[in-house]
Amino acid sequence: MHELIIIGAGPAGLTAGIYAQRAKIKTLLLEKLAPGGQVALTDVVENYPGFPEIEGQELIRRFEEHARKFGLKIKVGREVTKVESEDGVKKVYSGEEIYESLSLIIATGAQPRKLGVRGEDEFIGRGVSYCATCDGFFYRDKIVCVVGGGDTAITEALYLSKIASKVYVIHRRDKLRATKILQEKAMEKENIEFIWNSTVEEIRGEEKVDSVVLRNIKEGSKRELQVDGVFIYVGMRPNTEFIDVEKDENGFIITDENLETSEKGIFAAGDCRKKTLRQISTAIGDGALAVHSVESYLESLKK
Ligand code: NAP
Repeated sequence: MHELIIIGAGPAGLTAGIYAQRAKIKTLLLEKLAPGGQVALTDVVENYPGFPEIEGQELIRRFEEHARKFGLKIKVGREVTKVESEDGVKKVYSGEEIYESLSLIIATGAQPRKLGVRGEDEFIGRGVSYCATCDGFFYRDKIVCVVGGGDTAITEALYLSKIASKVYVIHRRDKLRATKILQEKAMEKENIEFIWNSTVEEIRGEEKVDSVVLRNIKEGSKRELQVDGVFIYVGMRPNTEFIDVEKDENGFIITDENLETSEKGIFAAGDCRKKTLRQISTAIGDGALAVHSVESYLESLKK
């Protein structure tokens, strides 16, 4: 029986792992794929204190190394499909295995949301992508568009502008949601062009993507834009389907100020929980606080 099982090895989960090891809590971390989460898919991180510029993969490699240095047990390739509570014991189902623990930290993060338009599913891997750092390479000197106006869309548009000949940013309003410094950088790039007040209605092509159909939502007009690739960044969907605790209308887990969920002994940390700012730095704060709360919870069980 473990005292703590952490689910997810992104910044929140690995930080929780470091703190739990140092608190001498008998801990196991389960990860669906490999450590990293969204950060591992990020080209450069510029807002993590102490590292004005560091590759996402390098940062996460250091987190993992740090956690392993304190002896954290990490099992990779273990997707959790169900969690059950029985007399205070949490049963965590993954494939054929059932792991038992007195407490849990859910740190499963979030994944890109789909746009939900015609052609999107059909052309995934043939021009439609949700990861510029994974697929950008295929668009050297080609024309691509990025859909969305948040931090992710603009970060990825900047990355793509170094590879593609032209990057259109298609945004449904006339103001970006992204942080100001990213906006300024993107505005300065000669090969980034903004298409405002517009949505993508359809993605077209034969063997691969050839164009997108745009609708100007102010004027109601439509036009076709020739592109070789479509990178979609219209927000995140939390990876929380497997756990039955209270969530908001978008599936983000609701916690109290100690990061406890509606189920005693189950805590949530990082992007998978309902919060106002999703950053590496806030995920790390969550990881540390969640372990602090787990310690109090484990103490309360002994009384
Ligand atoms: P986000 O902040 O929710 O932005 C989503 C963008 O997509 C918004 O501009 C939104 O438009 C647009 N959008 C949503 N639904 C749409 C639709 N159906 N059609 C067209 N456009 C649509 O998501 P995100 O950019 O993925 O960021 C997620 C979180 O990670 C945020 O908290 C962000 O700050 C954080 N993050 C931070 C960094 C960084 O600090 N460098 C990097 C990446 C992500 P509206 O603006 O009109 O709502």
